[in-house]
Amino acid sequence: MLDFSKPDAPRTPEQEKRRSLFFWILLGLELAYLFRQNISNGFEQLQMQALRVNLPWPLLMLGWALVLPASYLLLVFLHEAGHVVGALLTRFQILSFNVSRLHISRRASGWQVRFRKPKKGLSGMVQVLASDSRNLRSRYALLLVGGPSANLLTGALALYAAYMWVPYSPPFPFTGYLLHYTLLVFGWMSVVIGTLNLLPLKLKSGHIIDGKHLLHLMQGGPAMHQQLAALQLSSLSHNGTRPRDWNATIVEKLLSNHSNSVLDCYAHYYAYCYYHDCNDLEAIRLHLNEALDRRHLAPVAFQQYILGEAAYVAALHTYDTEQARHWLNRAQEVKPYSKEEGLFARAAVAWAEGQLSEASTWLQAARQQLAESLDVGTRTQAAERMDELQVKIEQASLVAVSV
Ligand SMILES: [Zn+2]
Repeated sequence: MLDFSKPDAPRTPEQEKRRSLFFWILLGLELAYLFRQNISNGFEQLQMQALRVNLPWPLLMLGWALVLPASYLLLVFLHEAGHVVGALLTRFQILSFNVSRLHISRRASGWQVRFRKPKKGLSGMVQVLASDSRNLRSRYALLLVGGPSANLLTGALALYAAYMWVPYSPPFPFTGYLLHYTLLVFGWMSVVIGTLNLLPLKLKSGHIIDGKHLLHLMQGGPAMHQQLAALQLSSLSHNGTRPRDWNATIVEKLLSNHSNSVLDCYAHYYAYCYYHDCNDLEAIRLHLNEALDRRHLAPVAFQQYILGEAAYVAALHTYDTEQARHWLNRAQEVKPYSKEEGLFARAAVAWAEGQLSEASTWLQAARQQLAESLDVGTRTQAAERMDELQVKIEQASLVAVSV
């Protein structure tokens, strides 16, 4: 049985809410202070600039309201493109490229371009796969450096262009004004974001940014061993090695290194996959619980996923319908399922609750989704799980008919 008595997370939702409220109150007070100090000055400046370029000031303000987010999107795009260049130079394959709503991913049937809601707390992301493990540490470091370098380089170019090619010399024609200030804003934003990404920070969303990854690689401690081991296992799996055939030394390396970070959560998740494929229920239970205990360190998408795994284990391995429903509800509380998420977990719980037709529908959808997965090793294992559930649904249907 899973140990459901363990606390779910160190902080309750009420504590989280209080922390958030405190943060927003502080930010609000700070902004109010700055606003009070600068509003008249800023507004006068805006009016003066509108006069110079012969535009009504509301129109000029609207222009800035468009230029700022557009500059930000462009610099995020360039940051991720920098990672892509780094990846291609260091023998990594690109699995997906995300910038705001744009999501380009590699599927079994080819590349797929979609527009969908961006991940919480993340403007862009590139997912990669190491084609081999030679010099993995230095190759991964170069890939990571690619993103911030792209921002620093394009930012410096934009500032150079703003000062040298389109210098400030009133009276401005409107196009000159627009070009000068857009280059200036884009340039400074790029330099600031590129520098921030080189700092060893962890985002509130649970994602680790480039600087923190780089620090791990430079320090050469437990976090580095965990990162590199996770990259190796992901690579093995995508190349067709199912979890039970993974190199046990790599799994052990993941578990024996403790970084007191989200990487410990991922380490137990990989161990859960390994022992799940070895049909070792005790080890499955142990590592799933360990990953669940640390899930608050991970991004919400992973929290939702690991809670779905707990629901599946409770439904199909420990046959505890109540707990299966509990974990599925917890998964949806963390992040409501989209039509593509949690399909197999929902099928398993529906079966446990005797909703056979619903279980069948979810299972069919999960199979279609699995067919598009590039992770061949995990796909083989997942297909077996689905076959087992299919048999259970058919058996339950026969019993229902005969009754
Ligand atoms: Zn980056």
